[in-house]
Amino acid sequence: MKFSDFNLKDTIQAAITEAGFTEPSPIQRDAIPLVLEGHDMVAQAQTGTGKTAAFGLPTMSMMKADGSVEGLVIVPTRELAMQVSDELFRFGKLSGLKTATVYGGTPYGKQIDRIKQASIVVATPGRLQDLLMSGKIKINPKFVILDEADEMLDMGFLDEIKNIFTYLPKERQTLLFSATMPNAIRKLAEQILKNPKTVSITKSEKTNTKITQLYYVVQERERDDALVRLIDYKNPEKCIIFCRMKKEVDRLVAHMTAQGFKVSGLHGDMEQKQREVTIRAFKQGGIDIFIATDVAARGLDVNDVTHVFNYHIPFDSESYVHRIGRTGRAGKTGEAITLVSPNELRTIKKIEKDVGTKMASQVIPTRMEVQNNRSDELIAKIAETKVTDKAIELVKTLQHDLDIVTIAHLLASMIQSENSVKGKDNIGLGLEEIALLMERAMTQRGGGGGGRNRRRGGGGGGYRGNRSGGGGNRHGRNGRSGGGRDSRNGGQGSRS
Ligand code: AMP
Repeated sequence: MKFSDFNLKDTIQAAITEAGFTEPSPIQRDAIPLVLEGHDMVAQAQTGTGKTAAFGLPTMSMMKADGSVEGLVIVPTRELAMQVSDELFRFGKLSGLKTATVYGGTPYGKQIDRIKQASIVVATPGRLQDLLMSGKIKINPKFVILDEADEMLDMGFLDEIKNIFTYLPKERQTLLFSATMPNAIRKLAEQILKNPKTVSITKSEKTNTKITQLYYVVQERERDDALVRLIDYKNPEKCIIFCRMKKEVDRLVAHMTAQGFKVSGLHGDMEQKQREVTIRAFKQGGIDIFIATDVAARGLDVNDVTHVFNYHIPFDSESYVHRIGRTGRAGKTGEAITLVSPNELRTIKKIEKDVGTKMASQVIPTRMEVQNNRSDELIAKIAETKVTDKAIELVKTLQHDLDIVTIAHLLASMIQSENSVKGKDNIGLGLEEIALLMERAMTQRGGGGGGRNRRRGGGGGGYRGNRSGGGGNRHGRNGRSGGGRDSRNGGQGSRS
């Protein structure tokens, strides 16, 4: 099935193409035609399933961009409000549909001005209720969407929601999205929806098959070390570590920082500004490791999270699904890794049963395996790297003072220390191993290996230049000084 089969407005179709969406997701396939036919709808779908587009595309396709507020989306958290708003803006901009984001903790004035210019308002319940009750805004949206309704009820927003609906027009199309369907949601649906159609993605579609789910059994006291080891082993581009409590987030942030990782914590007690800055840094790649509680990470929509770590297994299956859904998004693959103590193994079985998938049991890698993994990655990277003119010039300059093998050793030491593995009694690569690495890499490239060991051991000393090695590996950690156990490395691996 293609998006063009829905016959959406040209400008919306163009935005879909621009967004790079090729195929509708299951929830979009089922929901879009029903919304276009004008039905109210109850949809069971989680974040990461494409639910924003499922309600955004058809409703926006029917909007006139006439200067009034035509659509209202109510969401549980500020983060989700911003994310939904961004996504809708993307779809609506070619159709002249502006969005306004409304949440508490920021001044009223600007938000009210934005609402006056917007076609779509994305709001959290508390602030929206304030604005409506005080008469600061009057809106008559044709489309009203409740997003993550179960979450709003869990957060105690039921009264606000019921009250908000008293300010909305009777003639409207209402869509309710929820990850779970407890009785309270069904009851709410009966009160605010008219003859709704129901859409639910089936169990097998619920957990993304692109996510590999693994678990590691650890003793309680080994948890921190196991986490550090796994992050070193997996070397994730971007990951979220989930904790159960805020104080655990704070403690792990301190621990990981002390281990040399560049991490940031996210929990409910943080100032709004600080949360926004942190989330933005994570999205834009300034921070690669996020440590968060469930509540803080609800609705967090970052596309390129490669790994989710459950520092502790969550208490319930819904949280598990929510957490692991932060990876494997937008058609990408992901890994979800859970640390469990032996007496938590029963919870694994329960989640597997509830969710209908299997998690594979794994053994924490040894330090040597971590190191070998890094070396393999490094070799693959070296083998793929293109030689640039600048590099040729640099080697030519270095050759004034040093022979080619020493240059290779020095450069390899720099690269290796940037990829270094962290750990208490860490094993480092000596010159011999580095030379081996270079030789293997050169063989893979088809260049002659040659020359290893020619000046092995004497490889230091001669370099006079000012080596500014850069700052640590992917996670911003500082590389180890020198070559660890191999004293032949002299001082040449050290980077100040
Ligand atoms: P959501 O469930 O709305 O949070 O969407 C999850 C992510 O998937 C968002 O980043 C969307 O931009 C993306 N997405 C939604 N629908 C599609 C689609 N049909 N094809 C590719 N990516 C999509």
